[in-house]
Amino acid sequence: MAVLVLGGAGYIGSHTVYELIDKDEETIVIDNLQTGHLEAVHPKAKFYKGDIRDKEFLDNVFKKEKIDSVIHFAANSVVPESMTDPLKYYDNNLYGTMILLKSMVENGIDKIVFSSTAATYGEPENIPIKETDKTEPINTYGETKLAMEKMFKWVSNAHNIKYVSLRYFNACGAHKSGKIGEAHNPETHLIPLILQVPNNLRENIKIFGDDYDTKDGTCIRDYIHVTDLAQAHILAIEYLKKNNKSDIFNLGNGIGFSVKEIIETARKITGHPIPAIVSPKRPGDPAQLIASSEKAEKILGWKQIYANPEDIIESAWRWHKNHPLGFKN
Ligand code: UDP
Repeated sequence: MAVLVLGGAGYIGSHTVYELIDKDEETIVIDNLQTGHLEAVHPKAKFYKGDIRDKEFLDNVFKKEKIDSVIHFAANSVVPESMTDPLKYYDNNLYGTMILLKSMVENGIDKIVFSSTAATYGEPENIPIKETDKTEPINTYGETKLAMEKMFKWVSNAHNIKYVSLRYFNACGAHKSGKIGEAHNPETHLIPLILQVPNNLRENIKIFGDDYDTKDGTCIRDYIHVTDLAQAHILAIEYLKKNNKSDIFNLGNGIGFSVKEIIETARKITGHPIPAIVSPKRPGDPAQLIASSEKAEKILGWKQIYANPEDIIESAWRWHKNHPLGFKN
């Protein structure tokens, strides 16, 4: 039986496919290649180009292949874009998931693991954030992901489907092979933007605000390596197979690093001075986001391998140094 990975040509999806294939899992990838890259799809995975909003297409894949579980990454995830084009997010993330669920129900597929986000919490009420904390998103992206979680809850109540929702904190880093890594267009994330400086693609990195109520005034985030995230999806599939129970888990490092600390680490790893310029705050940025991943550790048996920022940035640098323009070179 195969695992179907929706969005398997994207950043976290492609890394998860690499881990599945490493474990000799039969893996099928669907991606519409709107933001994903064909080059990121593992050569041993079977690839279908198509959109999750196309029910006939999904039905055909479910009928043709022997699929027993689904991992769903196929979504838009750029926070600022979600604020200027909210309907794109409702369409792709929420409507797309509804079509997927319809097709799963009709085709008797009963296990799904899907990407959720720390953005479901909004401004955190506690640090570290637990799964039981209040969820009040402050952007459309987080809102559509929370709505997806709720859709899964009600659908699994009515139909024979069990789900695991994984709330990622700041995904980063790249595969150890250096063959795949982060490649967004436009790039908005801190670590790839920092590494554009030693790659001579930008002159400096902007620090979005240095008067937050944090140890050095810059925002604190929980940076979690993409391979560690990928492993959690495999554990979540095993959990569904063993326990036949739905659940929600945070996935983070449990330790927060400030923007300044991340820049300093990148200077150390690359040997480049990486000039930084303090700039205005970015709207909607909470001062601190740090996960409690105790639940995933206890129940899924999840353990991080890349626990410190040096290891994370080193792996990211290996990728970006050799692919300054992402998959274009
Ligand atoms: N950030 C920054 N300069 C940049 C990009 C990001 O100072 O050019 C900060 C941002 O304000 C946040 C942190 O870096 O505090 C991580 O931002 P990113 O966009 O990578 O992830 P997010 O936390 O928004 O999911």
